[in-house]
Amino acid sequence: MRVLAFLDGTLADPEAAHLRVDDLGLLRGDGVFETILVVDGRPRELRPHLERLARSAAMLDLPEPDLAAWERAAQVVIDNWSGPAEIALKLVYTRGIDGDPEAKPFGFALGVEIDEKVQRARVEGVAAITLERGIEPDLAERAPWLLLGAKSISYGVNMAALREAGRRGASDVIFTAADGTVFEGPTSTVVLARDKTLYTPPATIGILPGTTQAALFRGAERAGWSVKVEPLKVADLTEGEGLFLASSVRKLTRVHTLDGAVLTDSSAIHAELAAAYESEYAIS
Ligand code: PLP
Repeated sequence: MRVLAFLDGTLADPEAAHLRVDDLGLLRGDGVFETILVVDGRPRELRPHLERLARSAAMLDLPEPDLAAWERAAQVVIDNWSGPAEIALKLVYTRGIDGDPEAKPFGFALGVEIDEKVQRARVEGVAAITLERGIEPDLAERAPWLLLGAKSISYGVNMAALREAGRRGASDVIFTAADGTVFEGPTSTVVLARDKTLYTPPATIGILPGTTQAALFRGAERAGWSVKVEPLKVADLTEGEGLFLASSVRKLTRVHTLDGAVLTDSSAIHAELAAAYESEYAIS
C-alpha cells in the first residue's frame, strides 16, 4: 500500500512518474526529507519533524517550507491510508528544475508500509559495526557548507555504509571519528544506557538531532531515568547495560553485537525503555 499527496493537498498515483528528470533533487541530491512514523492514524513527533524539515531547508538555502501545507499533505496521506496500522510517512522537498530561474521547489508526502527488515530488527535487535565517517567532531561548526546535521536527500554515503555492514556480517553501523568519538547511525541516533542514565551525543558535533531520541528521553525521565547529552567514545559503547539505535520507523532497536562482540543482554532494559517511549503516545 502506498499513498502519495502533493503540497496543494491533491492525491496522486504513487505508481506513476511525477518527478522531472531534470529535478535537482535527482540530479544533485539537492533537497531535504523527513520520515515520520504514523500509528493508528496519529503521526508521532509531527511538529519536531516539520521544524527539522524547515531547519534542514534553511541549511540548504531552500525557500522556507510552508509548514501548514506540509501538514495538510501529511494528513491527506493519513486520511487516505487503508493499509496496516503503521505508516512510514516520507516528506520530500527538492530544489526543483535545473536551470529554470522561475523554478519552484518540488515537494510531496508519501506513505509506505514499514519494511519487514525493520519490523524484525525492532524485535530481534541488530548486529552493528563501527565505521569511520572521515570527519572530526568540530567540523560542523567550522564548515557549515558541509551540511553536517542537515537531513538532506544525499544519503549515498549512509547507504554505502549499510552495505559495508552487510559485507561484514552485520546489519547496521555506528559512525565514528578517528579519535573514537561516536556520531550516529546512517539512519539513526545512538543511545547508551548505563547506571539508570541514558546518554546520546550532542547534535553540535554534526549529527541529526533525533526526534525519537528526544521522545525517548522525555518518557525515560518520567519513568525515573536520568538523561545526558554528551560526547561518547567507542570505548563507552561496551561499558553500559544497553546500546540502542533510535529512529522514527525502527523506534528503539537493541544492538546485541558490536564489531563482532556480543554485548550484555539488554532485553529487559529495552522493554522498559520501549514502554517509556510508548507512554509518550498513550491515549488518556
Ligand atoms: N540520524 C540520521 C542520520 C537519520 O537519518 C535519522 C533518521 O532517519 C536519525 C538520526 C533519527 O532521527 P529520527 O529519530 O528523528 O527519525
